[in-house]
Amino acid sequence: MQSKSLFQFTLDNVLGIVIIFNQSGEIVYANQAAMKKLEYQDELCGQSITEIFPGEFSVEGGGLAIECEIGGESHNIMAYRKNRTCFPTKIRLLKYEDPEGKLGEEDRYICTAYDVSNENFLEKKVSQVGQEAEVAQKVKSEFVANVTHELRTPVNGILGNAQALINKEEDEEKLRLLHLVERGCRDMHSIINNILDFSKLEAGKFVLEPRRFQFRNMIDYVKSNHINRIIEKGLEFSITVPNSIPEYIVGDELRIVQILNNLISNAYKFTAVGEIHVEVVKTAQTGNRIQLFFMVIDTGIGIDKAAQDKLFQSFYQVDASISRRYGGTGLGLNICKQLIELMGGNIHVESTVGKGTIFTFDIWAEIAEEDKAYAEEDAGKEYTAEFIEKDMLGKLQSMSVNSAGEKIWKYGEPENKEEIEKKMSKLILCLEMENWEKAEMFAETVKQLVEEAPREVKSHALRLKMAVQKGDYEKATAAFELLQKMV
Ligand code: ATP
Ligand code: MG
Repeated sequence: MQSKSLFQFTLDNVLGIVIIFNQSGEIVYANQAAMKKLEYQDELCGQSITEIFPGEFSVEGGGLAIECEIGGESHNIMAYRKNRTCFPTKIRLLKYEDPEGKLGEEDRYICTAYDVSNENFLEKKVSQVGQEAEVAQKVKSEFVANVTHELRTPVNGILGNAQALINKEEDEEKLRLLHLVERGCRDMHSIINNILDFSKLEAGKFVLEPRRFQFRNMIDYVKSNHINRIIEKGLEFSITVPNSIPEYIVGDELRIVQILNNLISNAYKFTAVGEIHVEVVKTAQTGNRIQLFFMVIDTGIGIDKAAQDKLFQSFYQVDASISRRYGGTGLGLNICKQLIELMGGNIHVESTVGKGTIFTFDIWAEIAEEDKAYAEEDAGKEYTAEFIEKDMLGKLQSMSVNSAGEKIWKYGEPENKEEIEKKMSKLILCLEMENWEKAEMFAETVKQLVEEAPREVKSHALRLKMAVQKGDYEKATAAFELLQKMV
């Protein structure tokens, strides 16, 4: 008896609604919470459950029709107050059957429910806050993208003028200072570009620009970007590209260069002795599409296991003191990862502290029209690791450049001339298409190719590059024409 009143007391005071009704839907018990929430005084007993939850219960042909599953999951339904206003609830329906008919009681339904108005309100609020945060994030990214874009123009201006002064200046001290200005501008330029790419990628506004390009020319360009300073540091540098990789490829050349530049720059920054080696192999081909697998191997300081997991996060740097010495934002690997994923690949790192690091990544590209015959011959071949090894050791055509690093194409030699012509014809195409980023890349290569040319030629190449950097079509084409006559 005592326990019955204990249960009764508990039931009466449960925070949620508890309503018991019989098979015809007549309420036989309602706890205090039910009466309070539904705004009935004592008169809830005797009412029909269809009044309270009309969406769930109805009277059909004199019997009670129930929509929900008895004993099933709780679900959302409107509860109606006495004054016919309503509020959302979560309810669950149970059925009590007198086990052996001992109590002589009729079967009862028990409905438990609780008000979810607050929960719904909070859910809405959370999603609203989430949406607002997303919008704010987008606005921020757009702002960063705009500001960095605006910053690029003056930095390019300073850089170009510093380079022009370097070309004219003969006083050693002034030259030293000018070189410092130039280096500062270059660092700023690359930081701005990183932030610009990062904010575009974050805002989901980054679009790859696949075009046809010559793979080995691209590799040459990457090599020329790094060879001098790597050799100056006393390190060996080599790049190997097997014959199995076609000459013409359709892909975003600029971005592949960017990924390789960052990985090689990292290898350079974090390697004091030994070598940096880059290898490219073709790992798969389906029809026209090929998978290229790149490895950038160094014998540097290495990265410990814990840091390896965080490496691809934005702004992460393992050792700030080294990074401070060489500059950098800690965005490079994050950008690489996002670019590689856009190209359908993945990036991985393997490293041993004190021994060195291997970054590997793969991307998918297409074989260009010129190499169709090649594509047909090779289609469907999956290259196994063993094959790659044989391929690399055996019939690979090595494009190695070692630390002896003789200048391969001296100015005036036929190869140099041919190379300048090739790059110039690409440059003019980019100018016509107003593809300034790519044009800048070719202008830089041309500038490097005339490094040993007479001062006049060099300064025209520089003028050309400056005009391209500024996006000045008129000046760029004028400088182009002049330079073309000279080389
Ligand atoms: P940024 O590329 O933006 O100029 P960063 O080079 O410092 O700056 P990431 O390229 O993202 O940034 O590299 C992140 C960090 O990973 C580096 O600061 C360094 O601590 C570590 N790291 C990257 N590559 C290597 C490597 N080859 N050897 C040792 N540590 C490396
Ligand atoms: Mg980097």
